[in-house]
Amino acid sequence: MKADIVTIFPDFFRGPLDYGITRRAIEMGLVEVKVHDLREFTHDRHRTVDDRPFGGGEGMVLKPEPIFDCLEAMQLAPREQRLGGSAKEAVVVLSAQGKRFTQSIASELAALERIVLICGRYEGVDERVAEFLADRELSIGDYVLSGGELGAAVIMEAVTRLLPGAVGNEASTRQESFTSHANVDQTGPDSTCGSGGLLDYPHYTRPAEFRGMAVPEVLVNGNHLEIRRWRREQALQKTLRNRPDLIETVELAEQDEEILGRIKKTGRGR
Ligand code: SAH
Repeated sequence: MKADIVTIFPDFFRGPLDYGITRRAIEMGLVEVKVHDLREFTHDRHRTVDDRPFGGGEGMVLKPEPIFDCLEAMQLAPREQRLGGSAKEAVVVLSAQGKRFTQSIASELAALERIVLICGRYEGVDERVAEFLADRELSIGDYVLSGGELGAAVIMEAVTRLLPGAVGNEASTRQESFTSHANVDQTGPDSTCGSGGLLDYPHYTRPAEFRGMAVPEVLVNGNHLEIRRWRREQALQKTLRNRPDLIETVELAEQDEEILGRIKKTGRGR
């Protein structure tokens, strides 16, 4: 996959892409990242990227010309082909007004050959970029950041780890939080369970007892079926507690419904 990041702060990306799975994926050539300095696409002496908003109001707005010039130099497929799906490319503007970025959008982007991430700054980006140049606006959450760079880094990391070969054990990315049944084929060991769109189950490692805090007994008894059941219960319990909205959106098995019923009644899955 190719990834292009358009920003007025190219050095920002020295850190976020240089660690762990993302770094390894870049070194392995699974993803080729280019960071484009928007100022290199300006034509005036001051390398101006922003201007005052039409209609008045606070702050400055990123000008359209350098962004259009920068993307034209990338020689992408025409916008209609990107939108229609015949070109496996996407141009994304990071925006607090965008559609919320989710794990399923991450999988969608991971299937493409090229993604372009445009980072806004100031009061935002001239709307003509979203309207005529980009295919979609994405927000990383319901809060306002000062720039799109962190959002682009978040998207890069979430997408990169889904590229085949990026994570040592591919079954692990298929089982994680938010990953729906549609994306899961159950290939992990018998004791694991895919989240099916819920939150992941809790994980423990050695020591079995630490400062008087013991690992749940069921995990050390070696009964895979019981472990799987316990993990499912825990995932349901945690989702109900922290993200009840997710319960509404997933398809639950009959057994899940029973467990949920018990949790709601007794606070416990069994
Ligand atoms: N005036 C805008 C906020 C501009 S913040 C508003 O109220 O919606 C400046 C830039 O930060 C935006 O152009 C966008 O690129 C980025 N940004 C801010 N919040 C973001 C979020 N939640 N997700 C993704 N990008 C965000």
